Amino acid sequence: MTNSDTTDADTTTRATTDRTTDSARTDAFDVAVVGAGPAGCAAGVFCARAGLETVVLSNGRSTLTKCAYVENYLGFPAGIEPRTLLDLAREHAREAGCELRAGTVDTGRRTDDGFDLVVDGESIPADFVLATSWADSDYLQDLGVSTEPEEPGPVDVVPTDADGRTDVGGVYAAGRITSTHHQALVAAGDGARVALTLINDVVPDFYNDWVVPEGYYEQYDREVPVGVEAIGHEERRRRAERGRERLREVLDRDRS
Ligand SMILES: Cc1cc2nc3c(=O)[nH]c(=O)nc-3n(C[C@H](O)[C@H](O)[C@H](O)COP(=O)(O)OP(=O)(O)OC[C@H]3O[C@@H](n4cnc5c(N)ncnc54)[C@H](O)[C@@H]3O)c2cc1C
Repeated sequence: MTNSDTTDADTTTRATTDRTTDSARTDAFDVAVVGAGPAGCAAGVFCARAGLETVVLSNGRSTLTKCAYVENYLGFPAGIEPRTLLDLAREHAREAGCELRAGTVDTGRRTDDGFDLVVDGESIPADFVLATSWADSDYLQDLGVSTEPEEPGPVDVVPTDADGRTDVGGVYAAGRITSTHHQALVAAGDGARVALTLINDVVPDFYNDWVVPEGYYEQYDREVPVGVEAIGHEERRRRAERGRERLREVLDRDRS
């Protein structure tokens, strides 16, 4: 579940799921996200915050590192360095509860329960795979996921349905790999969107990943829906302060 160290039991209600899939494999992750660029980190944040055990696997070379300076990512009026943007995205995935593992996913196979991805010789079992890597990765061919040449470019892409499902059940794809627009903000949004498809496939009553003021739903005589967290005034203040500190930490670290 999402950052348990920030949760104040007295003031917080989160109607969540814990380890929601029915896998017989106790050692398996619910979701393996391949890639830790904008799409993979956003997908990881949403999956982990929905209570899914999520591992984010990456060999570290996001396309974003080729950019000289990012001036079109929302929330940074004078732009942001690509390295800092990636650091923030990866910290965010970690903070949300993802396990980040470095390494290349070399091969993969379908199993009776889901999937096994092999990273530097280590097998990582997962019930679902969300691919945000590059389409020419061998593991996708091993899993039987179709790829096709992108027109007119030189790269391959993964065709999906409108919600991000590939032609292999349990494998989803988001971001650059699906031929979406070539901007980091679009890739991040796509990662979040496809993660929500996966979450809704696994947890059909998942409503919204929202944090609302305590009492918000009570005024409508409603229970706090699954996925929503209600927090009191003190907790809001505490989180706001912590949010500012964490941001400062990353910015200071990247400056030094
Ligand atoms: C020169 C250049 C300049 C750009 N400038 C801008 C800009 O100014 N603004 C902007 O918004 N966008 C810019 N972009 C585009 C932006 O970088 C991409 O849209 C964005 O990075 C796509 O995000 P993504 O998460 O889909 O893929 P990526 O960021 O490419 O992430 C892919 C991830 O998959 C991992 N991976 C791949 N294969 C494997 C494997 N087999 N096993 C494990 N991990 C794997 C990689 O390590 C990486 O973490 C630029 C791109 C280029 C090339």
